[in-house]
Amino acid sequence: MTARILVVDDVQANVKLLEARLQHEYFDVRTALNGRDALEIAARERLDLVLLDVMMPGITGFEVCKALKAAPETAHVPVIMVTALDESQDRVKGLESGADDFLTKPVSEIALLTRVRSLIRLKMMTDELNLRAAAMQSVGVDSAQIFTDPGTLRGRVLVVDDRPSSVRRIQQGLGAGHDLEITADPSEALERSATNDYDLLIVSLSLGEADGLRICSQVKAIDRSRQTPVLLITDPDETSRLLRGLELGVNDYIIRPIDLNELRARVRTQLRRKLYQDRLRDMVSNAVELAVTDPLTGLHNRRYLESHLKTMAERAAAGEHGRMSLLIFDIDYFKGINDTYGHDAGDDVLREFAQRLRRGVRGIDLIARFGGEEFIVVMPDTDAGSAAAIADRLRKDVEQTAFSARGGVSLPVTVSIGVAEYMGSGDTVEALVHRADQALYRAKRQGRNRVVADAA
Ligand code: GH3
Ligand code: MG
Ligand code: MG
Repeated sequence: MTARILVVDDVQANVKLLEARLQHEYFDVRTALNGRDALEIAARERLDLVLLDVMMPGITGFEVCKALKAAPETAHVPVIMVTALDESQDRVKGLESGADDFLTKPVSEIALLTRVRSLIRLKMMTDELNLRAAAMQSVGVDSAQIFTDPGTLRGRVLVVDDRPSSVRRIQQGLGAGHDLEITADPSEALERSATNDYDLLIVSLSLGEADGLRICSQVKAIDRSRQTPVLLITDPDETSRLLRGLELGVNDYIIRPIDLNELRARVRTQLRRKLYQDRLRDMVSNAVELAVTDPLTGLHNRRYLESHLKTMAERAAAGEHGRMSLLIFDIDYFKGINDTYGHDAGDDVLREFAQRLRRGVRGIDLIARFGGEEFIVVMPDTDAGSAAAIADRLRKDVEQTAFSARGGVSLPVTVSIGVAEYMGSGDTVEALVHRADQALYRAKRQGRNRVVADAA
């Protein structure tokens, strides 16, 4: 994980210490000894995180944080406030200034790296979403929903803790803003994780006889909960087991006695990251779908056909699906349909034609819209003779049942079909498509509304 971190503290020794620790983890570190310099660097450089001391002469950490969060260029840069040990009041003020999390002086190594990593992951998600949103906007897609900050997030949270005092504290901190489900029983926790979609799991490291770490590793092994963030609750003396937890993929932790502001901040970070991650995933699948789908018919488009046909041919050449055939359909006198009934009626015919192809071929056959009124079906495990027979059944269906266009118009349609068979490893998909196209050309020349198989 490489990222640029700005460390701000008026005490040079503190700056040096944090700088050394972060550089040791290969982070790119900038430093500032006062608020004014910090803001100047933030305005000039692209930062991924700011570690901000609260108590500084001149502009305080709170003011720096407020200014960073108020400027659009830096609003999404996470800020960690570094406060003195028992200044709980500082955390309230920090949250009000927009801080994302806290570290307490003296800063422990494990706390530093956990918090830094957790917030940098969030920042990476935010950046990626912003990039995608910009890309979509540039092609005219409304992307406002993608990069808007959700503000307050209500999460569905499973709490696994057997200590009543600790549970009460969590309810006090989160009960109003989130939907909490609480259990002390590890096997019930697993059962619930496997059957429900939680946004966050809060797990106590020690659970009577049971082991909180085991739950964490089991939860990360269940498909349903693999991506669900986990926040550990630990006692101050459990450092080595906490480290094991972080290795297992636990996202963050909080030490008892639980500070409510810390708890809320950490929960918020995890929920945001989960939300962004879900949005990214949805967007990827939508984008992938858009890229390979023909919007009019919902069939695969030519791009998908061309890439997938290669794979299918390789499989056929390897003898995996026997012989393979390819059919090209071209609707007869389609221009005439457009001219007579209008372009929209033409579209209706194309949609219905696609429907009939879907119904008329097998699930493993690949159907694609190749161009305007041309369609291709690739049939694995089918020789040219069988393919021609199927083609003729489809042709007859088109001829015998008129198409219905908008306005209740009934349109007679016919189609010509060229068929070719893949010849194995010496053959290419380009040559295969060409042979089918030649056969189609002959079908047109011989009077249309017919099937011609390539003679090769
Ligand atoms: P042939 O029997 O020789 O195939 O004649 P044809 O009229 O079907 O062939 P031609 O290639 O001359 O015309 C195809 C027409 O399909 C021309 C084009 O305007 C129309 N077309 C292409 N894409 C679409 C589309 O998405 N919707 C509609 N409605 N028409 C389309
Ligand atoms: Mg054509
Ligand atoms: Mg045509």
